Amino acid sequence: MTEETVSKRIPVVKNLKLLGDGTQGVLMGIVCKSCGEYSVGSPAFCPKCSSDELEEVELSKEGILRTYTVIYVPPPGWNGDVPYTLGQVTLPEGPDVLTEVIDCPREEIKIGMKMELVVRVAGKDDEGNEIVVHKWRPVR
Ligand SMILES: [Zn+2]
Repeated sequence: MTEETVSKRIPVVKNLKLLGDGTQGVLMGIVCKSCGEYSVGSPAFCPKCSSDELEEVELSKEGILRTYTVIYVPPPGWNGDVPYTLGQVTLPEGPDVLTEVIDCPREEIKIGMKMELVVRVAGKDDEGNEIVVHKWRPVR
């Protein structure tokens, strides 16, 4: 395979950083140098103390399922399974990350279970690049 034929993998959200060959990823966040608060994404100011002394960090790829909900009516543009399960996972650093729970039958989903971040290809853009999304999967 030559370099030209390899399609790129592009994360659907800005704060998802792909690692290695793009089959793994990590969510990026910030830590406030003033109060130590962690946030997902890249806010301009600390949501807790409004400081702008922020440092970019890679967030944990594992967390604890805090709550979940089953979605029967997906938002426009959703091209995954319906119904699907949306899980809110609390990272060890503190912030919550809300995304789909996969690889788990609904009756086996339990509050408090350990989840890990995985990336999946959700489709292709107009240039043939793979669009990559992040999901939660139970740690087995
Ligand atoms: Zn702060």
